[in-house]
Amino acid sequence: MKTQVFTIKDNQINQQDMMAAAEIIRSGGLVAFPTETVYGLGGDATRADASRKIYKAKGRPSDNPLIVHIADFSQLCQIAAKVPPEAELLAQHFWPGPLTMILQKNQVIPYETTGGLDTVAIRMPAHPVALAFLRESGCMIAAPSANTSGRPSPTSASHVREDLQGRIDAIIDGGDVEIGIESTIVDLTEEIPCVLRPGFITLEMLREVLGEVRLDPGIASENTKVPPKAPGMRYRHYAPKAELTLVEGEAAQVVHKINELAEQAMKRGCKVGIVATEETKTCYSGGEVVSIGSREDEAEVAHHLYRVLREFDELGVDVIYSEGFDTAGVGQAVMNRLLKAAGHKRILV
Ligand code: AMP
Ligand code: MG
Repeated sequence: MKTQVFTIKDNQINQQDMMAAAEIIRSGGLVAFPTETVYGLGGDATRADASRKIYKAKGRPSDNPLIVHIADFSQLCQIAAKVPPEAELLAQHFWPGPLTMILQKNQVIPYETTGGLDTVAIRMPAHPVALAFLRESGCMIAAPSANTSGRPSPTSASHVREDLQGRIDAIIDGGDVEIGIESTIVDLTEEIPCVLRPGFITLEMLREVLGEVRLDPGIASENTKVPPKAPGMRYRHYAPKAELTLVEGEAAQVVHKINELAEQAMKRGCKVGIVATEETKTCYSGGEVVSIGSREDEAEVAHHLYRVLREFDELGVDVIYSEGFDTAGVGQAVMNRLLKAAGHKRILV
């Protein structure tokens, strides 16, 4: 299959291209498109055949449900069996934006889209291209991240090309995304709202609006025995090709430990990658050192995370040592993704 690329410059959307991309969705095809979190791989959420194609193109396990993207709150009412007041409150505060809500589904969305679950994940993205695309298609669009399953999520159209060129109908290239990690997922089907995946919208922000909100015990790093509720959080995922180890503790000791580990690995003949920060990047004595940003700015770290992991894939490193990060604000989401990428291999110094 030839993958068409529609390029958008300075958020100027060529109407002809938009119409062509929308037509692909309406006829059951797949189009990758930018959102403010990561690139999504879109298909008509109401068509079982389109959802099946998404799983196939990504090599995604079919029990891992897709997020349905909408452009208008009324669409949520079309696909949710009931709309609790919490959903309205969250939509008022955070939509359009990087927040996904889990609600009971009705029959409009097929089980192929929800991985067999009776609940559905719904988000209204804030990216102008994503919203224009949703509106032009007139469809609700099921869109997981537009990467091959198991690889780091794509934060630019070139990442999408690397993974899915020739496997999907088209890519809308809207440049680099803004946030760089996937949406926060909050489950509203339980008595107490529960965060299944941390993201840019933090637990504290949700609590300000809803009062009590829990964090899924299955994603707390200390607690690997309870499975996470979101199927996608159960897999080793967000992962670079090399083996990643997280080293946490006081900065000077972390640098010392990583230098020691890197030296040992290089003696074994391994090519080593190091995830450093602006503050520490000059403190490493060997290996491929890549700065992920300033550790004072968690949003910057989040923004660079997946690009840096992909960069190490390109460099062909065998092992990666990464510094750990503060879990304040979006730092919680960063550490959640890093721990998953590391398969929970962590060293505390
Ligand atoms: P992605 O779009 O690639 O970021 O993946 C979507 C994430 O949402 C995965 O972790 C899914 O397991 C999760 N998800 C989607 N629908 C549901 C649902 N109904 N219940 C729980 N988790 C869900
Ligand atoms: Mg994904």
